[in-house]
Amino acid sequence: MARSVNVTVTGAAGQIGYALLFRIASGQLLGQDTKVRLRLLEIPQAVKAAEGTAMELEDCAFPLLEGIDITDDAKTAFDGVNVALLVGARPRTKGMERGDLLEANGGIFKPQGEAINAGAADDVRVLVVGNPANTNALIAQQHAPDVPAERFTAMTRLDENRAYSQLANKLRVPVTEIKRLVIWGNHSATQYPDLSHAVVGDRPALELVDDQEWVENTFIPTVAKRGAAIIEARGASSAASAANAAINHIHDWVNGTAEGQWASMAVPSDGSYGVPEGLISSFPVVCKDGKYEIVQGLTVNEFSRAKIAATVAELEEERDAVRKLGLI
Ligand code: NDP
Repeated sequence: MARSVNVTVTGAAGQIGYALLFRIASGQLLGQDTKVRLRLLEIPQAVKAAEGTAMELEDCAFPLLEGIDITDDAKTAFDGVNVALLVGARPRTKGMERGDLLEANGGIFKPQGEAINAGAADDVRVLVVGNPANTNALIAQQHAPDVPAERFTAMTRLDENRAYSQLANKLRVPVTEIKRLVIWGNHSATQYPDLSHAVVGDRPALELVDDQEWVENTFIPTVAKRGAAIIEARGASSAASAANAAINHIHDWVNGTAEGQWASMAVPSDGSYGVPEGLISSFPVVCKDGKYEIVQGLTVNEFSRAKIAATVAELEEERDAVRKLGLI
């Protein structure tokens, strides 16, 4: 018999929520053998819009969808949750300083962390999508002391997917030929998309690219600034690709990464690669039996070391800022 899983999505009435919920309900998040009960969390003003999305979900008559609850109360939303997708966040508005942004998000992710701590299922897995994702995940995690720290993760899979496509376009190969591309650090403009371990078929990607100028001045900035380029072109931020990446992240975590493949996930550091312990930073991981492990023993060259140090420094600054604000 199919098992049943509670999936909570915050910011359910938003753009990403709209692109995400139908894919979850159709079985793409956890597989065709898993039934899903959806819990949608929204702020009071957006509950009505979430109800509209729920009506559309009903109208799809998805065989795996067991039910949908909508609430503006975090405790209710996270009670018994197995998979929590924290999408809703406070966007940066004009004139807003970074401290204001972090404080506003602290007001969202602190109570959500507490609610997860109070009511989540023992196997809860949390993915933070709402920005600043790494630091929002840290805030939530710090307020959920009874949940194993490693269950709190943030999304860098969209950056990884973008990097795969850029490299595939450059080398004119299918993305399926490429493996072991890594995103390090923060989901921000300082992230480091790293080609130094990537292989295309059985050849090192960098050998095929053979153009360090392209890597430094085209590849890395194109991946890091892709979000802004999409806003410029589309007039709205990326939503379907962000939802797709969230599906990929949880699917790999639960069902495992393919043989020989890695995934990039922002996870609490265990001190690997000089990243201070506890920071939620992106690493290459391998997932198996419902758990992830940071890939160990990679050689980090001088260029990579400097790039990783820069993005980790930004994460430390964000952590220090939220500490100063009393949010952690
Ligand atoms: P989106 O659904 O487009 O985005 C939601 C969050 O995801 C934003 O913080 C956004 O960051 C982030 N994000 C991460 N990666 C990406 C990416 N690659 N592309 C785009 N966004 C990305 O926002 P909407 O404004 O459409 O919807 C947000 C919803 O959240 C609203 O319905 C609002 O009511 C709700 N909300 C719910 C809360 C709750 O449940 N307690 C709390 C706060 C808001 P960025 O802004 O940097 O693009």
